[in-house]
Amino acid sequence: LAAIEEARGPFERHTWAAGPITAEEAPHGAEEAVVNPARPRDQVGTVTWATPDTVAAAARVAQPWDAPPEERGKVLNRIADLYEEHYGELFAILHREAGKSLNDAVAEVREAVDFLRYYGARTAGDPPVGVFACISPWNFPLAIFTGQIAAALAAGNAVLSKPAEQTPLIAHRAAQLMLEAGVPATALQLLPGAAEVGGALTSDARVGGVAFTGSTETAQIIHKSMAEHLDPGAPLIAETGGLNAMIVDSTALPEQAVAAIVESAFQSAGQRCSALRCLYVQEDIVDSFTEMLTGAMDAMRIGRGWEVSTDVGPVIDAEAKAGIADYVAAAEDEGRVIKTCDTPDAGHFVAPTLIRVKGIDDLEREIFGPVLHLATFKADEIEAVIDAINGRGYGLTFGLMTRIDDRVQHVSERIAAGNVYVNRNQIGAIVGSQPFGGEGLSGTGPKAGGPDYLDRFRQHPAGQ
Ligand code: ADP
Repeated sequence: LAAIEEARGPFERHTWAAGPITAEEAPHGAEEAVVNPARPRDQVGTVTWATPDTVAAAARVAQPWDAPPEERGKVLNRIADLYEEHYGELFAILHREAGKSLNDAVAEVREAVDFLRYYGARTAGDPPVGVFACISPWNFPLAIFTGQIAAALAAGNAVLSKPAEQTPLIAHRAAQLMLEAGVPATALQLLPGAAEVGGALTSDARVGGVAFTGSTETAQIIHKSMAEHLDPGAPLIAETGGLNAMIVDSTALPEQAVAAIVESAFQSAGQRCSALRCLYVQEDIVDSFTEMLTGAMDAMRIGRGWEVSTDVGPVIDAEAKAGIADYVAAAEDEGRVIKTCDTPDAGHFVAPTLIRVKGIDDLEREIFGPVLHLATFKADEIEAVIDAINGRGYGLTFGLMTRIDDRVQHVSERIAAGNVYVNRNQIGAIVGSQPFGGEGLSGTGPKAGGPDYLDRFRQHPAGQ
């Protein structure tokens, strides 16, 4: 707690200092403010952005990490130790920069540490690809950022990392700890900036592979850019979005289902790629079930993540808030909003909202916020529901609430999703034993935290 208190003050003004290229000697862009999404007048810090010229300079000096595998393993574990030692400071940055609740921040540091130790124990193998670009999103700005980099470094690559523009400070602190633990400066360069920095990375011929987590649209742009500029064999490891569904049949335990739904759809203000977006409830129980669900929504507290009583924090920025608000307003005009909650006036808060879909196969795009869609199905329509879910082309997470044993088996086999959750919330994965990742429009595989993931960061002997 003392560490958290200490870190509440203003952060040091900084540049992208981590890595061999410093602001003094390299071309750089504007200085941008980073603000707290729950209190936009709270300036958390500033960051000097990289530009495409910075990317070129960094790619010129990057050197694969040629230390023996045991040494790389030790350094990755030392980074994990440093994350644990500095956990209070990391929580505080996650909270102030990304709006994370204390619970979410704790889980995120834990996941980052797990990635470091898991990949740190698996450093031996074929040689590295060379220079890897790691492009990460703002919703898990420490865990995903660390997971990508840890895998690339475990294989011995040099890393050029572009964190999301909204969350450069946690990336900066983490990169400092990586260097402090012994990663050579020539093997890690942080390049905070906008999409153009990502674009420069994916079109620099010195980059041998790309690890990306973010939207499906950006993954498609990166795929195209790599095909034009990089070696035809350059690997792209992409983790993208989902239109994740859950089926609740009439045998499900309603209390268990409602608790799981509220967490799956609204935790992290719905800003998880795994979050539940569309709920299918069997028609016979839908009235009583909806009443219970809207009651649970009424009981939710929306506010700043640091308060222990808060269930739903802010969304990341004003643009995200406006986009979700427009979507909800259009549904409201069509009379499809079943329930919406109250929110605080200031800050980037969005009310958790339940919206009725027009039909079982109607859901066009991922809304990255606390918006849940409700559809109903008749007892004999379950196959059509599965077809509708699979037909969207995404396949990240899927939930099933039932007490029919055969149904668990049948639906799990039929559904195209990377992670299936039965009679529980649709949240989480355990590095090592439950690798996470999707199919189709949701990602390229292999799953993060699984045995094949590291192989994509290595060269393979011809023909393999
Ligand atoms: P989100 O909707 O979660 O912000 P994005 O796909 O826009 O998802 O962003 C994920 C990461 O990809 C961020 O670091 C972002 O800056 C980066 N990015 C955005 N556009 C591009 C692009 N054209 N090329 C490479 N990286 C990009």
